[in-house]
Amino acid sequence: PVEAELEALQHADVARLLPVPTGESDKYRRGVVGIAAGSARYPGAAVLAVAGALRGGAGAVRYVGPAGDAVIARFPETLVSDQGPKRAGRVQAWVVGPGAGDDAASVAEVLAADVPVLIDADGLRLADAGAVRGRRAPTLMTPHAGEAAALLGVARESVEEARLESVRELAGRYGATVLLKGSTTLVADSGGGAVRVNPTGTAWLATAGSGDVLSGLAGSLLAAGLSAVDAGSAAAYLHGLAGRFAADGAPVGAHDVADGIRGAWRDVR
Ligand code: AMP
Ligand code: MG
Repeated sequence: PVEAELEALQHADVARLLPVPTGESDKYRRGVVGIAAGSARYPGAAVLAVAGALRGGAGAVRYVGPAGDAVIARFPETLVSDQGPKRAGRVQAWVVGPGAGDDAASVAEVLAADVPVLIDADGLRLADAGAVRGRRAPTLMTPHAGEAAALLGVARESVEEARLESVRELAGRYGATVLLKGSTTLVADSGGGAVRVNPTGTAWLATAGSGDVLSGLAGSLLAAGLSAVDAGSAAAYLHGLAGRFAADGAPVGAHDVADGIRGAWRDVR
């Protein structure tokens, strides 16, 4: 039999993946997610990634970077530090890159950590390919078509015309799970196999900062112990639904999408 190349994400499958705390849970068992994002120029990316992470079910969110004041002003529960990822303390999964500007040192420190790492946005450009390939813990990369094209060294249109081949090629090259964002989001594992397709998105998600929310959300699920492919898939599914619920037929900002995650979660559970 010919194996299916694509596998649509199903509500029931995503429901089973969502981490729900039990009597034995404490914040460390639920997972601590580290966010290394934002810059003086783009502090909002840090705030939006933290917003996504807080709604993803981790027990705590640690923020490392220059936007700590902005993060704390909006989310006082965040643990903030400006000492760099290496000195951040206990973290079960890292998100690196949204709005990070040219902070290559933080990207390198995060890649050296022996825990799952999600790389997005500027982090994709700054990450050393050999360092990514050499990681033992899972890596999840979340490019949009333009970022995927830059990584592959091709034009954006080439990625748009061959999204399935592109996401597989990137996963193979980097030995990482790759989530290719777009009107339908694809998630490919490095080991091959069927590529997962997320059907829940809405064009209202095409708004600045939307991807930053997704990165935090997926990072939180990684910290809770989901595999890279499951964390990426479940996050894309929830994020798409959150966009639908938040928009409800009218324009939204990315912070509204983050606020919609709780409703999406209730709907899936
Ligand atoms: P970014 O480009 O990093 O801000 O990420 C944009 C987010 O919005 C991703 O999750 C995309 O999958 C989603 N998105 C962008 N455009 C569309 C669209 N036309 N339909 C559905 N989702 C979209
Ligand atoms: Mg982005």
